[in-house]
Amino acid sequence: MKRVVCPGSFDPITHGHLDIIGRASEIYDEVVIAVLVNREKSSLFTVEERIEMINETVKGLKNVTVDSWSGLLVDYCRANSISAIVKGLRAVSDFDYELQMAQMNQELAGVETLFMATRPQYSFLSSSLVKEIATYGGDVSAHLPKTVLDLMQTRLAEVKSGSSADNKDDEKAGR
Ligand code: ADP
Repeated sequence: MKRVVCPGSFDPITHGHLDIIGRASEIYDEVVIAVLVNREKSSLFTVEERIEMINETVKGLKNVTVDSWSGLLVDYCRANSISAIVKGLRAVSDFDYELQMAQMNQELAGVETLFMATRPQYSFLSSSLVKEIATYGGDVSAHLPKTVLDLMQTRLAEVKSGSSADNKDDEKAGR
């Protein structure tokens, strides 16, 4: 059985992520979406919230599961019998860093990384850009599932009114 992982912050999940996940699920027996806990990076949603949103949006994909991980991705792969990491490549700008990570992960644990070219309509799409545009009232409805869009708008309004502090990724998640 071929099990692969699609790792990332998913803060929040976009159609760009979902495209890669959906295409990977057609090739492999099982796809695990790993929400990586990054203590350095502040996030809009807690890890639990992100997992819930992802679960909601991938519920139609029967061979896709969602998990979180705090630590080295290769350790997660080893612990869960995952032989490969699947990543989307948007543009040349992604390539330098991704190549370095892929080579390091191969060196560290023999875990392979497979790159999937994004569909052109998602090549400019990132969670951070979507959040930035939405913060200033821009229309990002084409780039996110409706449930995610609604939750993001609610959260951004809370942040704006000061009723929700920036999550330090795992604070609210109790980690
Ligand atoms: P990170 O915080 O590690 O950059 P993201 O959640 O932003 O994580 O993205 C996780 C991964 O999802 C990326 O490394 C990339 O492989 C893929 N990805 C993100 N956005 C897109 C997109 N628009 N098209 C294709 N792949 C994407």
